[in-house]
Amino acid sequence: MKKEKRLNEAVFSVTKSDIEKINSYSLKPLSEEEVFVFSVILCDNEIDRDFERFSVESLKALKELFKGVTGIFDHSMRAENQTARIFDTELITDKERTTSAGEPYTYLKAHCYMLRNEKNKSLIAEIEAGIKREVSVSCSVKRAVCSVCKAENSSCSHRPGTQVEGRLCHRILYDAVDAYEWSFVAVPAQKGARVTKQFGKTEESKRGEKSVTDILKKLGEQKGETVLDAFETAQLKSYIATLERAAADGEHYKSSLMKKALSLSAVRLPKMDTAVFKTVLESLPAKDLEALVKGFADEDGLDFAPQLIPEAKTASPDNSGFRI
Ligand SMILES: [Zn+2]
Repeated sequence: MKKEKRLNEAVFSVTKSDIEKINSYSLKPLSEEEVFVFSVILCDNEIDRDFERFSVESLKALKELFKGVTGIFDHSMRAENQTARIFDTELITDKERTTSAGEPYTYLKAHCYMLRNEKNKSLIAEIEAGIKREVSVSCSVKRAVCSVCKAENSSCSHRPGTQVEGRLCHRILYDAVDAYEWSFVAVPAQKGARVTKQFGKTEESKRGEKSVTDILKKLGEQKGETVLDAFETAQLKSYIATLERAAADGEHYKSSLMKKALSLSAVRLPKMDTAVFKTVLESLPAKDLEALVKGFADEDGLDFAPQLIPEAKTASPDNSGFRI
């Protein structure tokens, strides 16, 4: 009750009970004067832009998972003393308001603190002035259930965002298992908090592809600093790991082609300087090496047909890669 009042009055005062909770997270005991306390809404049960909504059950789980999670504001916030931390969370139901899915509107509110120091001064001023308000969160859920037929993780043909029998098809999220990070959105005027969710296998890989394309686009478009949230960073890391594996496979295949070409050249071009020929081979792309090996082998049926190109490994994003 007290906290609600504080929010409505837009007064950012620190209570005794706040300090007790804050000190359970801080390394050294902090006094009321040393901290700045504010509240943010992390997520709710309204259908979002991705045509998904949290079940109240998953919001309850997130309420616990987000306790103690640090938030970031931009790159400079990654410094040790420039993070804000959630010291308390509450789930609030507004019975006056009904969601588009017909449930009472329920949201997860976080109480956060940050140190009052010189570095945080302008940021604190922005929060107090209401300029920094919207946050995005990164979390992980196990199940996304179709609102029409209750099928799990995209195993049905219903498409979220379409109308099915006069109702908006969407996915309901269950079993929240992790809360990674939260941050103020880069553009203050952006409407509504953005929620980044991560799903079980099928949905996850689909989402991974989409996100990486989006991230690369974002990196390409923006001049100057680009801010990536925890989920995007994890997606990018996972994507790089996949590329590294593919590159290693490619290298392996190329070196086996090189060996074949060299041993065939000993038969076909006995007078050729091996060292020179090796340098030439090294400069060739795998495709040309393949043609060369085939050409050498085909002539009178030498049994040196190149091995088939190994199937491209579409490694599914490694789950652990999403963890920061
Ligand atoms: Zn369905």
